[in-house]
Amino acid sequence: MFLKLMYMLFSLFKCSKEEIRINIAITIDLDRDCPMPVQGVKHAVSDILIPDFNGETDAVFDCTVQGLKRTLELLKDFGIKATFFIEARTLLFLREHNGELVKPLLKNEIGCHGMNHEDLTGEITGVRIDYNQQFKIVEEATQTIKSILKVEPKGFRAPYLKANTSTIKALTKLGYLYDSSNMLKTIEPPFPYRINDGQINIIEVPIPVYPRNSGKMTLYTWALFEKQRNVDEYKKIINAYKKNDKGGLLQISFHPWHLAYLIKEKRVLKEEEIEENVNDLKKVFTQLNENCNKIFTISEYLNEIEI
Ligand SMILES: [Zn+2]
Repeated sequence: MFLKLMYMLFSLFKCSKEEIRINIAITIDLDRDCPMPVQGVKHAVSDILIPDFNGETDAVFDCTVQGLKRTLELLKDFGIKATFFIEARTLLFLREHNGELVKPLLKNEIGCHGMNHEDLTGEITGVRIDYNQQFKIVEEATQTIKSILKVEPKGFRAPYLKANTSTIKALTKLGYLYDSSNMLKTIEPPFPYRINDGQINIIEVPIPVYPRNSGKMTLYTWALFEKQRNVDEYKKIINAYKKNDKGGLLQISFHPWHLAYLIKEKRVLKEEEIEENVNDLKKVFTQLNENCNKIFTISEYLNEIEI
């Protein structure tokens, strides 16, 4: 008891002395194994299936299941909540085959990430999806998530981060509070903003992209798991955001399947390689958890600010 009290006092002292603390949301796109767009096909196809894709088998979930198990363990170990944007098709799979992974999702915020990982804009698949179709897709996805998890998603992230005016209009009509599909080049954690125009009234929560001499860097851990950037580069960017912070929200994002799949070699990873990725993610989480930073869900953050 005494030790616990001392620890609490120490934490308080440490937090009040710490000047810079930032708002952080860990956002997780929960979808099938490496979903990729295919020309002429409305929905995604798992990368590993593309060479033999004949229009039928389009999704596998082995890496998603493995990665999700590790992700949920990490969140539990760190005692933090994330925002999950869920592809409804993946949730249907999990309910059928890995029911034990469904309930722990509810400790986090539940958002929506399409029904069947559609390219809603048709920009990459070449398949145009008009407003009515987009509305139906998002409505079905929302209903599926709601019927399985018994919670209403308030936030949406478009597959491939591809959303257009019809998407935002459909989200408004379906009662969504916010969208988070927009990348924003910025050196400070960005503030959400409201889009209010005719039939559109929704908050946009931008995904920050840090401008660098050599180009730019997102805080999607994509490049970390593809071994194109190391943990130190992520730490540097997080520190830079911390220095420039004015109270916005820093999002760190990833896909569970990526812990177990290497795109550049189109292969499922071995156990020890997965372990290495989990350890790298742990290092990023450790840095985020330092200095009394506030890690919460997007909805919790939006509740605390005025827009
Ligand atoms: Zn996705």
